[in-house]
Amino acid sequence: MNTRILKPDAAALDEAAARIRAGELVGIPTETVYGLGADALNPDAVRAVFEAKGRPGDNPLIVHIARIERLAPLISAEPSPQACRLMETCWPGPLTLIFPKSDLVPLRTTGGLDTVAVRMPAHPVARELIERSGRPIAAPSGNRSGRPSPTSAQHMFEDMSGRIPLILDGGPCGVGVESTVLDVTGPVPRVLRPGGVSPERVAEICGACEVDDAVLRPLGENERPRSPGMKYRHYAPEGELTIFRGDSEAVARAIRAAYDRAEAEDSEPLILALEENLPRYGARRVRSLGTGAAQAAQRIFAMLREADALGAKRIFSEAVDAEGIGLAVMNRLGRAAAFHIVDVGEAARL
Ligand code: AMP
Ligand code: MG
Repeated sequence: MNTRILKPDAAALDEAAARIRAGELVGIPTETVYGLGADALNPDAVRAVFEAKGRPGDNPLIVHIARIERLAPLISAEPSPQACRLMETCWPGPLTLIFPKSDLVPLRTTGGLDTVAVRMPAHPVARELIERSGRPIAAPSGNRSGRPSPTSAQHMFEDMSGRIPLILDGGPCGVGVESTVLDVTGPVPRVLRPGGVSPERVAEICGACEVDDAVLRPLGENERPRSPGMKYRHYAPEGELTIFRGDSEAVARAIRAAYDRAEAEDSEPLILALEENLPRYGARRVRSLGTGAAQAAQRIFAMLREADALGAKRIFSEAVDAEGIGLAVMNRLGRAAAFHIVDVGEAARL
């Protein structure tokens, strides 16, 4: 199959919408990452999503809608007042809410769960496609399973070329990490996956917010995750990634030493560092994560892909503060590193 990248003009949107209705897969830009879109209510289309990604069948998909009226048919209980406040405040945007599912939603879409994850994206191309197709669209990140998520049409092409007919090119993604997955079925909202909407923001809106403690650590051997995606190796570059956390001077010293050892072993190392710290690494090969957590979120997946393109066998990254969207960055970095995190100097708060 020949995969085309198209500018999302009216003709391309019409073609993409027709393909969604016909049960085919389309690459979609969203404000978080590029998604692999399919008709969420068509089990065959959904099966094709799992196949194209190489994704385990028990890792559920998020269902995307463009209008609030489209929520009711997908769920089997009235949203709680908290969920309503969150939708009023954060939709459209990078927040996914978990609801009890209706019979309309195939179990294949929810990975066998009796709950469904729903989000209203803000990206105009995603919204327009959902509207034109007239279907709720299941859209997991458009990477092959385990790889860093795509934040440009080109990245998605790298993973999906030959597997899907069409990718709509909406430019680089503004947020850069996936949506926050929030369980709103209990009394206190609980973050299952940190993302574009911070727990601090959820707490402002709802009065409280819990963060699943599996967010910043590996799962135990027999532990059952609340969010099935948490158990899989994720976002990983080919090279071995190590994160260094602590006082920034001490972190730079430790990374320089690790880099120099790796270079002596011909591991073609690469450093990922915040912009302000770049001078600390001298002539070593280093890429910038930007000036703070929000920029690091935008860049993190592209940097992990670039590490592969450069053939880096060892990658050493600075940590960012796990606050606000920084929690999402540290979750992705941590999982990409299989939680290989070195605390140096005065350990920073996780
Ligand atoms: P992705 O499609 O790559 O953005 O991943 C979506 C993630 O959302 C999955 O890996 C799950 O962890 C989470 N998710 C989706 N549906 C549910 C659900 N019903 N309950 C809990 N987590 C979910
Ligand atoms: Mg994903």
